[in-house]
Amino acid sequence: MKFNLSAPDIGESEKAAVMQVLSSGNLSIGPMVENFELNVAKFCDTKHAIACNSGTSALHLVVKSLGIDGGEIITTPFSFIASSNCAVFVGAKPRFVDIDPLTWNIDPKNIKSAINSQTKAILPVHIFGITCDMGEVNSIAKEYGLPVIEDSCEALGSKYQGKMAGSLGDAGVFGFYPNKQITTGEGGMIVTDRDDIAKFCRAFRNQGRLSGWLSHEFIGYNYRMPDINAAIGSKQMERLPIFIKRRDEIVNCYKEHFRDYKDIETQQIPGYCIPSWFAFVIKIHDRFSVDQKFLLIEQLRNAGVGCNNYFASLHLQKCYEHFGYKRGDFPECERISDRTIALPLHTKMTKDDVEAICLIVKDQINCLN
Ligand SMILES: *Cc1c(COP(=O)(O)O)cnc(C)c1O
Repeated sequence: MKFNLSAPDIGESEKAAVMQVLSSGNLSIGPMVENFELNVAKFCDTKHAIACNSGTSALHLVVKSLGIDGGEIITTPFSFIASSNCAVFVGAKPRFVDIDPLTWNIDPKNIKSAINSQTKAILPVHIFGITCDMGEVNSIAKEYGLPVIEDSCEALGSKYQGKMAGSLGDAGVFGFYPNKQITTGEGGMIVTDRDDIAKFCRAFRNQGRLSGWLSHEFIGYNYRMPDINAAIGSKQMERLPIFIKRRDEIVNCYKEHFRDYKDIETQQIPGYCIPSWFAFVIKIHDRFSVDQKFLLIEQLRNAGVGCNNYFASLHLQKCYEHFGYKRGDFPECERISDRTIALPLHTKMTKDDVEAICLIVKDQINCLN
């Protein structure tokens, strides 16, 4: 592939930090994890941060720590599957509601009618780095006494009304897979101001321990982050502001090239949000079919442009068949999801790369016409 969809930005400082951990002999439950947690808590302005071994396990820990066991969790069908799987892990049904056609995030207007006696939580996802309307989500949650879990895995450094994504609900979650704003190889982090959530997340992360090594108060997991990964994370956190700025420049460059091109729409940035971009995703015109989109993806890849189908509607996934969702249930999600494609976005791209990619994309869309 001439242009990769994503690329981690690993520098000399990350490499040196890894070597230091290897030499120290402290490979797990060492000082690097605590250090990384402090860095993220400070960055997000939260009381606690709890590192774990993936964004998915971080989400699982939060739903467990809230005591959710069955029922329903209200969330978006336009996301990566981890955001709804965490409900399924604890026997709950992901209760999807349709998205806002402009921001592509959960539409707060659709939340109230989905709340019932089974509802246990609301789980908004800040898709591609654009924050949800957290003011609206939180006020509905407050009215019904429901906790809010922010899936901020795509939004490290995004701001909602000046506050960091992840710090706006009862708990927020980040993921550090190599395509995210920062990476630890694999990894995740929970941030929260709530002492109870922090305490239970730490216990469930660590085999249900609250006190001694061989004293297990709960059935827990081993979701710990190794110190090597945490050391990479701390170095990445130092460079995060530069990453965010660079990704923003690339996105703005894309938008400039596509501004007058009518067959492409992009996600709207609401006034309450300053995004930290996870992905740059285009939506092709409604007259194109989903088959044409997949043809376009194939043609772009043949032309050397890394791209992907971000995201397939979650309610139509084979593994959720038993929940009984069907095509037509969430028309905005389906209309958008049938036509969205992620284009290359990473810190090593140049503006010339963006220009070359945009020419190829326009060319290939013109061929569909
Ligand atoms: C990346 C991501 C996650 C976490 O993924 P992991 O690979 O488990 O770290 C969760 N939710 C969303 C929306 C994501 O994009």
